[in-house]
Amino acid sequence: MKRAVYPGSFDPVTFGHLDIIKRAAEIFDELTVSVLNNKEKTPLFSVDERVNILREATKNIPNVQVDSFSGLLINYAAENELHIAVRGLRAITDFEYELQIAQTNKKLSEGRLDTVFLTTSLEYAYLSSSSVKEIASFGGDISQCVPDFVAKLIYEKYNLKHLT
Ligand code: ADP
Repeated sequence: MKRAVYPGSFDPVTFGHLDIIKRAAEIFDELTVSVLNNKEKTPLFSVDERVNILREATKNIPNVQVDSFSGLLINYAAENELHIAVRGLRAITDFEYELQIAQTNKKLSEGRLDTVFLTTSLEYAYLSSSSVKEIASFGGDISQCVPDFVAKLIYEKYNLKHLT
């Protein structure tokens, strides 16, 4: 049985992430999407909120489960017997950063955690969680970026209730 973990902040999940999730779920028998509890960042949504949003957004994909973790991915992966991490690549800038993380994880895990990259579908190449938040904070249209129920929750966070 091929199992993989897709770790990330998902603050909030976008159509770009969902595209990677759908495609990874076709490649692997079981995919765990895991929300990183990163204390350095000030997130828009709490970890629990992000887990619930991801569960709702992936409820029609039976082999996807959603979880969260703190600390090092290699420790979380070892505890859950996961040996493949999935990451998405949008552009060369992602590649430099992701390559470094992937090689660090490979080294620190003594070869037990490999990373598989899926390149973004072109229609989502421009999408990032931070740009979605910036557009939404000014009341801009994010309907092309995130599912409708997520857009509502984002506008609520920015007290833009008239847009929900
Ligand atoms: P992190 O803060 O860990 O980078 P993100 O939630 O921003 O987490 O992203 C998680 C993963 O999803 C990363 O591998 C990132 O490159 C990828 N990703 C983000 N947006 C897109 C997108 N539009 N298309 C494809 N992959 C994406």
